[in-house]
Amino acid sequence: MKLYPRLFLSHLLVILIAVGAMLVLTELLAPAFVRHHVEQMVRLIGPDGASLRPDLERGMRRTLNSALLVSLPLALLVAALTALLSARRVVRSVTLLRDGSHAIAAGEYRRRLPEEGRDELTDLARHYNRMAGALERVEQGRVELISNVAHELRTPLAALRGYAEALRDRVLAPEVASDAIVRETVAMERLVRDLSLVSRVEAGAVELHPTDFRPGELLRAALERFEGAAQDRGIHLALQTDDPLPRVTADFERASQVLANLLSNALRHTPSGGSVTLAAHAADGRVTFEVRDTGSGIPEEHLGRIFERFYRVDPARTRGEGSGVGLTIAKGLIERMGGTLTVTSGPGGSTFGFTLLAAHTGST
Ligand code: ADP
Repeated sequence: MKLYPRLFLSHLLVILIAVGAMLVLTELLAPAFVRHHVEQMVRLIGPDGASLRPDLERGMRRTLNSALLVSLPLALLVAALTALLSARRVVRSVTLLRDGSHAIAAGEYRRRLPEEGRDELTDLARHYNRMAGALERVEQGRVELISNVAHELRTPLAALRGYAEALRDRVLAPEVASDAIVRETVAMERLVRDLSLVSRVEAGAVELHPTDFRPGELLRAALERFEGAAQDRGIHLALQTDDPLPRVTADFERASQVLANLLSNALRHTPSGGSVTLAAHAADGRVTFEVRDTGSGIPEEHLGRIFERFYRVDPARTRGEGSGVGLTIAKGLIERMGGTLTVTSGPGGSTFGFTLLAAHTGST
């Protein structure tokens, strides 16, 4: 049976049971009430009253029965109408939910349900709308990702084709063309590797192996790794830490990966003669690591977007330098380790900082 008649019939059943109970109780209680009232009337009438007692009792019973006869069908009608309306309201909300979920299942992610009222059904509609919103965002992200990936692959592929054609037509020397082909292939490999990592980070599927280590170990390892590159670019690479720093709990490899990403960005965006400083300080159960540069800085209007996938401040100038997802990966990894990644920037340079949780015991 459909929900509407089923709800209506169940309401009706409750009404009929209430009416039945009322009639039985009236039958049981009415004689005592009538008798009590008749006794009062007899007392008021005086000595002749006793002879009127049977007539009075009959009259009162008849009055009671007539009142019940008129009021009961009317009350039943009002109750049935109310039951009909309330069943219709429930069924309407359920029907809207059903139609909405069908629409979403068919790919209409923009569909929303009306949120009128304050009952549980409205609550359900609100939660449903929130779920539809989340699905819409996921779908938008998927479409965007595909178009971004297509865009990112188009440029190196066109370059590869150009160099391969130049090689075939002997326009370029074989060494020059093959060097360029290797360079483009390496860039594509990096893009594919980063894409796979960014999708795992966003899905929360990166396995972490947290250990306790000294912040100094992380900083020194990064310093050693980038010293050569900094020297080549004529940039002064410095280390600045508070002593002693508490040990931190994090995945050492992943934290190094984040630091390396921030450092390589800082070196790329700092002109020769500038400096990049690695710093760390502790506060409130956390250690903050900072990479400060005296580079070009990031204009205010771009600051809020640089953690988005493939967002570049100057796409033409930085093409081929990075995959464009380095900061997205860094932010995802740091957040997975319970920290935050932030940036401040101005004309004098940028500072990227991330926090890691201090371990419960020990210090540098
Ligand atoms: P990319 O692979 O292009 O470096 P990222 O996600 O690492 O991608 O960085 C996103 C963008 O943020 C970069 O393209 C660059 O425009 C900007 N950016 C990142 N770090 C710095 C920095 N230290 N100074 C100036 N701009 C930066």
